[in-house]
Amino acid sequence: MIDKGAFKLDFSKVDKLTKEVCIACGAKCCNNIAIEIEAPSNAEYREYIRWYLAHKNVSVFIEDGSWYIEFHTQCKELLPDKTCGIYENRPKMCKDYGYDDDGDINCFISKFPFNYEHEFHSLEEFDEYIAEQNRKRFKKYKKRKPRKKKTTEK
Ligand code: SF4
Ligand code: SF4
Repeated sequence: MIDKGAFKLDFSKVDKLTKEVCIACGAKCCNNIAIEIEAPSNAEYREYIRWYLAHKNVSVFIEDGSWYIEFHTQCKELLPDKTCGIYENRPKMCKDYGYDDDGDINCFISKFPFNYEHEFHSLEEFDEYIAEQNRKRFKKYKKRKPRKKKTTEK
């Protein structure tokens, strides 16, 4: 879980990523790996997500309609002062991260306070979400007007 109290900077006013900003953020992007996954649109994909969530330090979240698995694991190159130990040689992924194609900040802090559409930290949370979705679908289905039976004129 993210400790929102740890942030001492008003990220809504940040317009450039500096070393100070990244340190204040706690190097969030160096503390996890998030990979897009299939939405649980069928039983097979749902079971994958249940399996992911059965593991320690793994969560699943939905952002802009896409599903992601997140491994909460710190990069081995992150130094205690929250700077990168291999800055000049860091992976391209790290070099590219932070801004979108228009040059706007597009990292975790632009999403502060990190209100994902949904975030699951356990298999039970996910099961409850699926049960709720099924309840909603069933309610919607029940509201539908019954179709008239076709009659064949003789
Ligand atoms: S999430 Fe953004 S502000 Fe935080 S360390 Fe990464 S690039 Fe810097
Ligand atoms: S290589 Fe450096 S910038 Fe990339 S995740 Fe690790 S500590 Fe962060």
